[in-house]
Amino acid sequence: MKRKEFLKNTMLVAAGATGVLACAGDSKESEGSSSAGISDKKYNWRMVTTWPPKFPVLGESAELFAKWMKEATGGRVNIKVYGAGELVPALEAFDAVSSGTADMGSGASYYWAGKSPAAQFFAAVPFGMNAQQVTSWMLCDEGYDLWREVYAKFNLVPFLGGNSGVQMGGWFNKEINSVADLKGLKMRIPGLAGKVLDRAGGTAVLVAGGEIYTSLERGVIDATEWIGPYHDQKMGFNKIAKYYYTPGWHEPGTQLEMFINKEVYDGLPDDIKAIMDAVSMKVHNWVLAEFDAQNGTYLEKLMDAGVQLRRFPESVLSELRGQTEAALNEIVADDPLSKKVYTSYKNFQNKVSKWSQLTEQAYYNDIQKVDGSYL
Ligand code: CA
Repeated sequence: MKRKEFLKNTMLVAAGATGVLACAGDSKESEGSSSAGISDKKYNWRMVTTWPPKFPVLGESAELFAKWMKEATGGRVNIKVYGAGELVPALEAFDAVSSGTADMGSGASYYWAGKSPAAQFFAAVPFGMNAQQVTSWMLCDEGYDLWREVYAKFNLVPFLGGNSGVQMGGWFNKEINSVADLKGLKMRIPGLAGKVLDRAGGTAVLVAGGEIYTSLERGVIDATEWIGPYHDQKMGFNKIAKYYYTPGWHEPGTQLEMFINKEVYDGLPDDIKAIMDAVSMKVHNWVLAEFDAQNGTYLEKLMDAGVQLRRFPESVLSELRGQTEAALNEIVADDPLSKKVYTSYKNFQNKVSKWSQLTEQAYYNDIQKVDGSYL
């Protein structure tokens, strides 16, 4: 659109908006103020999660979704939230909602990579997009449509459920100064990132959440990643690991999800569907805000406790970046849907990161002064 045309349209829109406001002000009592067309049917749902009961931020976000849905629907939607293991085990949440054993679920889509490799692109991609960028891909590009396409064959409709922001690189009992230090490194690091570490000469070890502390303490593993200062401090990792590394190359903006059984969703009236959209966005915003607030506070606590921060050297990040690309190429070579999703993801990342570099990154690097920076 030419500049003149753009300006003309802008004026028309502005004028139109004023007109709409005037009309709204003039209108008498309309259908909005009566209860006509709004069903008072009640919905009682069971929501299963992949999080331990009341797990900080993640479990809390499911509880908040239930609370806000009840408030926003005037009590028409009642959701009972079950932590992992209370109704079904954590990693059966997807199947439970798919089959209708439960109505809704809360998790992260990389847990379902075994069901569809394309699912993991909606949680975390090593060296991929951060929270702000991935939300943009979801809402204002192809992300949401592709996600719904991937989940449709499992009889599920996914919703945004938050983002962790950039995670920390993890806790290490030896320094990582060069690529050679990755060789033989035994680390608890799940999913695609684990495959990347294996390719770089390390060994990704599968350890359940409750056993990480003892495994690290006893030297069964040399390192572990978890989330960020808030959750890591609660796990006590600073008591048994020497170094806390940044940044979390493997989880630069892990997106969380809620999902609902498709028949349950399709049977909903339009107003409840719209409320679900709005409440999901409220949860999505709350999760990242809560992570940032708590991580800031708990980073201070960790630093006061004498934690030694380290930054991965560029040579190590470069090796991991190359191995990530190779691992991703393997995934998309085997699965057309993954290829479709990753092509969209990558195109968007290429475009948006150039913009971010000029603005967000330049601001962090050159403008924002940090009093008493830790690095
Ligand atoms: Ca993590």
